[in-house]
Amino acid sequence: MSTPIRFDLTQKDIPTHWYNLLPDFPVPLPPPLHPGTKEPVTPDLMAAIFPMNLIRQEMSAENRVPIPDEVRDIYALWRPTPLLRALRLEKALDTPAHIYYKYEGVSPGGSHKLNTAVPQAYFNKQAGTRHIATETGAGQWGSCLALACKLFGLDCKVFMVRVSFHQKPYRKLMMQTWGAKVYPSPSHETEFGRKMLHQDADCPGSLGIAISEAIETTVKTPDTKYSLGSVLNHVCLHQTVIGQESLKQMEIAGEYPDVVIGCAGGGSNFAGIAFPFVERNLKKGAKTRIVAVEPSSCPSMTRGEYRYDFGDTGGMTPLMKMYTLGNDFMPPSIHAGGLRYHGMAPTVSHLYHEKLIEAVAVPQEEVFEAALKFAGTEGTIPAPESSHAIARAITEAEAAKKEGKKRVILFNLSGHGMLDLTAYDEYMNG
Ligand SMILES: *Cc1c(COP(=O)(O)O)cnc(C)c1O
Repeated sequence: MSTPIRFDLTQKDIPTHWYNLLPDFPVPLPPPLHPGTKEPVTPDLMAAIFPMNLIRQEMSAENRVPIPDEVRDIYALWRPTPLLRALRLEKALDTPAHIYYKYEGVSPGGSHKLNTAVPQAYFNKQAGTRHIATETGAGQWGSCLALACKLFGLDCKVFMVRVSFHQKPYRKLMMQTWGAKVYPSPSHETEFGRKMLHQDADCPGSLGIAISEAIETTVKTPDTKYSLGSVLNHVCLHQTVIGQESLKQMEIAGEYPDVVIGCAGGGSNFAGIAFPFVERNLKKGAKTRIVAVEPSSCPSMTRGEYRYDFGDTGGMTPLMKMYTLGNDFMPPSIHAGGLRYHGMAPTVSHLYHEKLIEAVAVPQEEVFEAALKFAGTEGTIPAPESSHAIARAITEAEAAKKEGKKRVILFNLSGHGMLDLTAYDEYMNG
């Protein structure tokens, strides 16, 4: 028989709980602080923008958080996601390594982000929220949240960075198809947006401005809450379905990874694949190396400082202890838009600081080379963000070849690149 390359689960294998890393940290996670008093923030302070049930998850001390049946039923639209062995890539690299990838691009939104959009919409609905406001850069997060809100009958307002709104219409059209209202940010909808437009009528916008508009809308509109697609503890928590399924699928494959890899922007898809393996390392003596990959042009962990910083440009959020390039850092406009964030999730930062994970930075050239190699062997055209993980997987496979030893590599393919083909165009045509 030919070598198996797919390790499929069925609907009943969708995890029943999310894995919460917080109580397992050998050294407790530094809490978020109020910017004025420098005291740890209290739940009621966060209640202005988040519903209490999600705030409880953000601070939960429970190891396992149950996934509501309504959420599992929606997960079943695309979960369990496939785990494949990249046999053709292995052959092309002529490596003794075994390369596996977990593919999150099969979600209707095209990435892992729907894993948290659905529970966030669900818990908001439970808490009586009627409108959700958010920001989006190129639209990956906005489109997933738009669908989740549609499924639970919530009204969704998305502030989309103005240049992307005009230059990248397809995800905007996805959001509108799923019933969201999308505003180019800065917009006339908010005082902050009007102020920015008054200063510069052609302002291209930024994620920082869009966050400020979404938060202003939240605090000024009744029954409205704010929603974030990465960085926060509860977002990383929701993503752990990825790693839990991977554990089962690797068991079916009859192997255990020597190295687990994920790209890291705000840290959520990396957390999703990595945390369940971190648990095995901490509690069962596994020795898997766990590697976060960031772009060389936005290297928060590999070049940033570990300190308290704001989550946004305007300084409206609580202070979070994280690796940061500074909240005024302006990342260059690289193609992996989802990785252009100045900080890193506090949970991921803490793991790195405690030397429980590794981090590397990869330049854009190498990322696209890896993307084309992957597309040409495995078929799937990867998102530029996910291609950072592919690049590292290839480096690991080449190291195994040099050593002449087998190495089992697992990486997370966080999304497909079908709406990022202009980025491919620019790479291929100079
Ligand atoms: C948004 C996005 C990322 C980066 O966000 P994380 O929170 O770091 O996971 C990575 N890959 C894809 C496909 C994305 O859409």
